[in-house]
Amino acid sequence: DSVFANVVRAPEDPILGVTVAYNKDPSPKKLNLGVGAYRTEEGKPLVLNVVRRAEQMLVNDTSRVKEYLPIVGLAEFNKLSAKLIFGVDSPAIQENRVTTVQCLSGTGSLRVGAEFLARHYHEHTIYIPQPTWGNHPKVFTIAGLSVKTYRYYSPETRGLDFQGLLDDLNAAPSGAIVLLHACAHNPTGVDPTPEQWEQIRQLMRSKGLLPFFDSAYQGFASGSLDEDAQSVRMFVSDGGECLVAQSYAKNMGMYGERVGALSIVCKSADVAVRVESQLKLVIRPMYSNPPIHGASIVAAILKDSHMYHEWTVELKAMADRIISMRQKLFDALQARGTPGDWSHIIKQIGMFTFTGLNAQQVAFMTKEYHIYMTSDGRISMAGLSSQTVPLLADAIHAAVS
Ligand code: PMP
Repeated sequence: DSVFANVVRAPEDPILGVTVAYNKDPSPKKLNLGVGAYRTEEGKPLVLNVVRRAEQMLVNDTSRVKEYLPIVGLAEFNKLSAKLIFGVDSPAIQENRVTTVQCLSGTGSLRVGAEFLARHYHEHTIYIPQPTWGNHPKVFTIAGLSVKTYRYYSPETRGLDFQGLLDDLNAAPSGAIVLLHACAHNPTGVDPTPEQWEQIRQLMRSKGLLPFFDSAYQGFASGSLDEDAQSVRMFVSDGGECLVAQSYAKNMGMYGERVGALSIVCKSADVAVRVESQLKLVIRPMYSNPPIHGASIVAAILKDSHMYHEWTVELKAMADRIISMRQKLFDALQARGTPGDWSHIIKQIGMFTFTGLNAQQVAFMTKEYHIYMTSDGRISMAGLSSQTVPLLADAIHAAVS
């Protein structure tokens, strides 16, 4: 008998499992709106032109070698990533109060930040929004933090439960960590307004709550990198401390290259140096040092003003296509006279629409229309095209009628 005979079969990941089910479906009209990856109008994955160009440059440069990076990754990439999220003129960067380490995309950055907090921060409770990206509770729990939730979304209004959010953060113990989606909240597509962010900031600072930003969609929500970084910059400009996990998966289409960064903004340069020395002790036994290829591509783009500009244009085009899919889907439901108020489809932002469809309706749409999505009714707008909108609208109409 196998020495592993006692191993029980684990359930499929709820998000990636959608793709597994999709791949098994032989129907030619099947549609995968489960996973959060951008698709072109033709339904194809997209490699940005600027990424292809940067990659070609790197490949042609025969002076480049494949030596190990330092534990903290590519120094140039780290500097440029901090500027991207905090702003080119950020006083925190100028005062050397920020330490940035290259990590394995957004997930790896969250994990390294969480392990650092579990080892060196006095409060081990992290508050995450309800609902949130399904991997958040797993990442934080396994890192040794204790996970609690704060109210975020109101199913009645399909908008922000702002009062619930304030009440829950107000009731949190002083010093607790709070996970905030920097923009384009996943799965709801609902973000606080700038005024609400300011109130959240004041409350958190007055209670000494520690912000941990997850920035997985910078530039993807509004089409502007600066606008989508406003929440983070608001918290940094008050001089207080925070953590930020950045991902280049979506905004540069670097999904499988696993490029991201963790930044910790500290009160002083002296603290930042000590924090970084401890981050190295977290990383070294975990994966030793990060991969060189993707970070080199990102750094090449960020440091060259022409390439950077080209990137912002391509990024805006992706964001605009998603926004236009929202309008098309909303119009298609209006045209069908589908019961209910669907205005949240055009109000929500970012990659996803939180449709309000329940698990039963989702199952119906999968069975009858071969449309795949997570059971919470979240659909990826990035996976839609002008061609597939009518099919989705038909399916939603049938599911709710
Ligand atoms: N945070 C959020 C909110 C996300 O939606 C995602 C990707 N789905 C991530 C983090 C991490 O993605 P990655 O590790 O691919 O950068």
